[in-house]
Amino acid sequence: MDNSLIREQINRYLESANYRGNKDALPLVEDNDTSLTHFQHDMLSKCKARLNSLLQKKIATAVGKVPDIYIAFSKGELLQAHSMLFDDENYAIVINIGCVFAIQNMIADMLYHHPNVIWDLEQHTQIPETQQVCAAILSNAVLDFIFFHELSHILNGHLRYKKELATRSNDKIIKQTLEFDADSQAIVYLVGTTLDAYFTGRLKATIPESSYNLLFGSSERLISTIQTAIYIFLRIYIIDDNTEDSIMVLSHPPFAMRLFGCLDVAAQKFSMHSIISDYPIEITTGNIVKNVEQAFLKIGFPIETQDFVEAVKNALELFPAHHDRISKHYAEIYPDLNRLKHCGKLAVPQF
Ligand SMILES: [Zn+2]
Repeated sequence: MDNSLIREQINRYLESANYRGNKDALPLVEDNDTSLTHFQHDMLSKCKARLNSLLQKKIATAVGKVPDIYIAFSKGELLQAHSMLFDDENYAIVINIGCVFAIQNMIADMLYHHPNVIWDLEQHTQIPETQQVCAAILSNAVLDFIFFHELSHILNGHLRYKKELATRSNDKIIKQTLEFDADSQAIVYLVGTTLDAYFTGRLKATIPESSYNLLFGSSERLISTIQTAIYIFLRIYIIDDNTEDSIMVLSHPPFAMRLFGCLDVAAQKFSMHSIISDYPIEITTGNIVKNVEQAFLKIGFPIETQDFVEAVKNALELFPAHHDRISKHYAEIYPDLNRLKHCGKLAVPQF
């Protein structure tokens, strides 16, 4: 399918999603869109080039048939993205521009008001450039996570599964199971590609020294950096006041549950690489939570900390049973997903 036809199909998809109630499903950004500045257009094309190169790297190691995937940006402001399947073989990943602009501005603001989000950054506050670089790197990690999440929906066969078994596609447990799988796979991809760039020296070659030392000075710092980015992203949405019944009607697992799940998978994936170093673990998950929460408070983030406390309370009470429900369902649909997966065998269930 040629690009203009793909773009037409994507716009039709977004329009119908908007009609069905997703008010942030807005049309694709066009190259000549005057509502964006030159600088913003430039940022988007750099992002697209980066995501395309992540995609190529992923595909280069894949076994079996590799699908065509078209990457584009839409005008939505919320931190949302979509993956789509057209005519059984054409895929697209569409990312809202909010995932690029809003998140970077927010993280820059957080670091400015509370540099401790990044351990030791305070000592570098006289070099505003380091703050900017750190904000850009963290927001790129968020964007990569969002991208890998959508890519996992495609490569792990979720879209084909939903199409084949459309009669049950409204089943919320099916949806939540696929979302949990996409999160876990996205973390595996994100940690994997970052470690790869770390060990081959590519990270060091592309990042100014002071920022590199702060964020990736040791492999432990690298994992804390990824965890911080994921924490910021998923924490933004924690407004759920979950009950046993309300959990069952969500299209995604509750955000607090995704948050803990993602931090956990990141730590597991990291230890699977069995990087035994002499460094002590400098930054604990507890530090990450404390620093990010303080930064949200300093920038007057609209979500009340009380909601977060509630979400954590719910997490402890409700999520283990819900987690079991999703895991059990995953085991049930695993043979189908494995058959429908692109590029070889499905990854071993991560949760
Ligand atoms: Zn998803």
